[in-house]
Amino acid sequence: MSTFKKIKLKGYYAAVWCRRFAMSIYGYIRSLKPVSAIFGPLFERSRDCIEIDITYACSLACYNCNRSVRQAPSSEGLNTDQIRKFVSESISGNKKWRRIRLLGGEPMIHPKIFEVLDILLEYKREFSADTEIAVHTNGYGKAVEKRLPLLPSDVVIVNTSKESDVNWFYPFNMAPRDSAFYKFADYSVGCRVPLECGIGLTPYGYYPCAAAGSIDRVLGLNIARDKLPDDDDDMRDQMKKLCEYCGSFKMGGITMFGQVDYEVASPSWDVAYEKWRKEKPKMSVY
Ligand code: SF4
Ligand code: SF4
Repeated sequence: MSTFKKIKLKGYYAAVWCRRFAMSIYGYIRSLKPVSAIFGPLFERSRDCIEIDITYACSLACYNCNRSVRQAPSSEGLNTDQIRKFVSESISGNKKWRRIRLLGGEPMIHPKIFEVLDILLEYKREFSADTEIAVHTNGYGKAVEKRLPLLPSDVVIVNTSKESDVNWFYPFNMAPRDSAFYKFADYSVGCRVPLECGIGLTPYGYYPCAAAGSIDRVLGLNIARDKLPDDDDDMRDQMKKLCEYCGSFKMGGITMFGQVDYEVASPSWDVAYEKWRKEKPKMSVY
């Protein structure tokens, strides 16, 4: 590569870094109580996208997994009756989703993944032709590799092709509540995830995002919505209680600035996981 091209590339990366940094600072300022009181939250939750954590079982156990698969392993998931319930609620609420994404955990190791997809594809065929049905897979392990080619052609596959537990992730377990920097944070503002990725459906019910559901399964606050939230429900009460534990809250979750490939956890998470290991919280089932 020529020297000129090298300088141009370095300039490009420097510009990307500066932009991310500036956006992160902006996200941080917008999450402070006095600022959010004047301007309101930076992000709303999505009304037309949903992520369904159909299982917390996974073929990997990544550091900093934002479903706590490594620290709080569980095989809980949604069964086909619960998926039918979700579809029935969607139809009776005239909800034509723009995107329904299955993930977890690893959705491809859910024992009934193909039945789950049949139910969702029927919803698409009969009620909402424009809905994108997507499966978000890590692509890891023999069972996953064997099943992936069998997915129906009208299912969108997002394959992150992971090779091990070590990946570059945002430090989910660095709870902002443990940082003096976030002493004046308004956690009810959430972050960009509920808008960009969609609300979450978990084995316990609905949350502003799927990660929030997994935080709740460890903390045991048991604050899921038991039915599909109305569009005028901003789900801020759930964000207020759960986002203070979520590393993605930092800097508004605007950028991927600050990713790490080693395991980190702040004191609140150490305590939460310890408590979870001693006694699993009793959660209501969706
Ligand atoms: S593959 Fe995804 S769900 Fe599984 S442990 Fe890794 S980050 Fe968590
Ligand atoms: S901060 Fe975490 S739990 Fe809260 S909305 Fe964002 S991703 Fe979800």
